[in-house]
Amino acid sequence: MASLRDIGEFGLIAQLRTIATTGDGVVTGIGDDCAVLELGGGTILVSCDASVEEVHFSRTLATPEQIGWKCAASAISDIAAMGGRPRYLTVAIACPQDTKTEFLEKLFRGINDAATAASMHVVGGDTTCSPQGVMLDITVLGEPIDGRILLRSGARVGDLLCVTGTPGRSAAGLFALQAKIDAPELIEAHLHPEPRIAEGQWLAAREVVHAMADVSDGLVQDAGHLATASGIGLDFQPEKLTVPPALQNFEPTQGIEAIDLVMTGGEDYELIVAVDPAAQAELSREFEAAFGMPLSPIGIFTDKWNGVQIEGQDASEIGFDHFRD
Ligand code: ADP
Ligand code: MG
Repeated sequence: MASLRDIGEFGLIAQLRTIATTGDGVVTGIGDDCAVLELGGGTILVSCDASVEEVHFSRTLATPEQIGWKCAASAISDIAAMGGRPRYLTVAIACPQDTKTEFLEKLFRGINDAATAASMHVVGGDTTCSPQGVMLDITVLGEPIDGRILLRSGARVGDLLCVTGTPGRSAAGLFALQAKIDAPELIEAHLHPEPRIAEGQWLAAREVVHAMADVSDGLVQDAGHLATASGIGLDFQPEKLTVPPALQNFEPTQGIEAIDLVMTGGEDYELIVAVDPAAQAELSREFEAAFGMPLSPIGIFTDKWNGVQIEGQDASEIGFDHFRD
């Protein structure tokens, strides 16, 4: 019988998707950054994100406030990935009996700070016991602006894949923390990610942008989710990637090169979009003028294959999966 190690996180999700019933009010169910639901006469966006001690965070590498911020920011990023307006947040906390209340208060303060920065309110949650380690599960609720939502499934053949900002810094920051390297910009990128909320709303407001997702598991892997959801292929072009300045002098251990961190490092919470090729240059210029960060073309969608290829090679196995070695 297959185990999670065989099918991986995304194989499991594909199976669960066949079991889940769908119906009235479900505009988009399992498979996008948020579910899109008709509720109470309007449309809402909802997503949850679980974070586990020593998997997603370590109390030895971050303060409780930093842990709270990062876990909340990763959840909020899924509202940004739809182009939505974040509104409310709930948080479930599981922790061992002997956890210091001061730790939990500070953790909650970090969550509340991230919510406040996103103009959200923390409106509830759950608290329960864990035999080992702290776990957080953060649910975020948001709404579309002027009815515009960008799904993962809207990419068209010929569209260009573009990414906001400079991915790779978060994974490098984690290396720096673990190896005790002094790299404040990278460590800040890892511990204090800023969900691209305004950027997502700006992109969703433009007809020439056809699909969007956030980069949580790694650029190549999340780009693959856009291609797969859209039922087409992607020619990922690593030669178009720039290694961010903060990464250029950074030589992580274990033989991993900066460009690998850019392509496969997760937790940057940048946005990837599929853009009409005729409009991309102008869009990128306007984006950079508005937000002071690049919107860089790094691939082209194609109908010649399904999923991601890099220089003719299938790249479906590149990226982070919680259950694979
Ligand atoms: P993200 O990285 O954007 O949070 P994930 O890769 O975690 O998205 O999940 C992909 C999709 O699968 C999402 O639509 C999510 O809601 C859904 N999903 C993940 N785990 C489960 C689960 N255990 N049950 C139902 N849906 C799930
Ligand atoms: Mg996401």
